[in-house]
Amino acid sequence: MKITVTRTAAPKVKPDYTKLGFGKYFTDHMFIMDYTEGQGWHDARIEPYHDLSLSPAAMVFHYAQEMFEGLKAYRTADGRTLLFRPQKNIERMNNTNRRLCIPQIDPDDALQAIVELVRTDIDWVPTEKGTSLYIRPFIIATDPFLGVHPSKTYKFIIILSPVGSYYAAGLNPVKICVEDEYVRAVKGGMGFAKTGGNYAASLIGQQKAEEMGYAQVLWLDGIEHKYIDEVGAMNVFFVIDGEVITPSLEGNILPGVTRASAIDYLKSAGYKVTERRISIDEVYAAADAGKLDEVFGTGTAAVISPVGELNWDGRVIVINNGEIGKISHLLYDEITGIQWGEKPDTFGWTLEV
Ligand SMILES: *Cc1c(COP(=O)(O)O)cnc(C)c1O
Repeated sequence: MKITVTRTAAPKVKPDYTKLGFGKYFTDHMFIMDYTEGQGWHDARIEPYHDLSLSPAAMVFHYAQEMFEGLKAYRTADGRTLLFRPQKNIERMNNTNRRLCIPQIDPDDALQAIVELVRTDIDWVPTEKGTSLYIRPFIIATDPFLGVHPSKTYKFIIILSPVGSYYAAGLNPVKICVEDEYVRAVKGGMGFAKTGGNYAASLIGQQKAEEMGYAQVLWLDGIEHKYIDEVGAMNVFFVIDGEVITPSLEGNILPGVTRASAIDYLKSAGYKVTERRISIDEVYAAADAGKLDEVFGTGTAAVISPVGELNWDGRVIVINNGEIGKISHLLYDEITGIQWGEKPDTFGWTLEV
């Protein structure tokens, strides 16, 4: 694919890499490619970062026909820049596209777009410990049309944001509230797709949890409010009596790249890992029996997020004395070690930009 590059004439002043936070700063350039029915994807280009001009009737504003992805570029101590399993994000992108009636993108073209954009803004990959360059590819439906129908035109855009260490204050366990009123997704819906609508549906539960002093929501299945789905923007794992259990992929949860990597790593290290339905009653029964060793979330943003407390309708359980558990710690060290090039990449997960 030919990508036309127009470099900015006015590079921005870079932010203080010790105070990045998440998703607040954007780099000098962006990637854009258009889709037109009959013509396919065309006009791939890297341009100075700029605002978009769209019709107020653009379909994305009305019926949420859009998708997004999230991955990171990591700077190693010897100055290389690594992507972590970008092919998995691209595969998931096309699965989301299929569900949202958005045209497929050639996986090689998508990877080339990511790599060339990161190369263009390589100076923006932060170097402070724990920092990285967050990559946000997304597609929006742009037809100016109020009928409910898949759009005939789209834009595929990639923006980049240098982000801080999620654990500036150490790998601290979070408190999580089990949501049993609202639901995020149901089987047959869009739960397995990375699309804004799922997040719109989740905001009210997240707000409720925050008002109660909790960091995140643990979502239960949308039909029986019984089986565990996932946590906010993370997949969730339970360690019960030494066995690692995570909800199986049945269409209502997001198939996380970090989830898959945690499973692969733990299996290779000899742990018993089971993907199956797990109910909230089973988790509480395990806690009552003193067998709930650890709970943790997995996702690109935090990698591993240990859970120190669960609140289900006022029933509070404290996990591992509110401290980070052994498996959570091991996974954090191993996966971040591979991402930042500190440990050998025995799985072949990284791709140098
Ligand atoms: C992105 C996301 C995850 C985590 O996926 P990773 O590929 O590991 O970052 C989990 N749940 C939801 C709802 C997500 O959107």
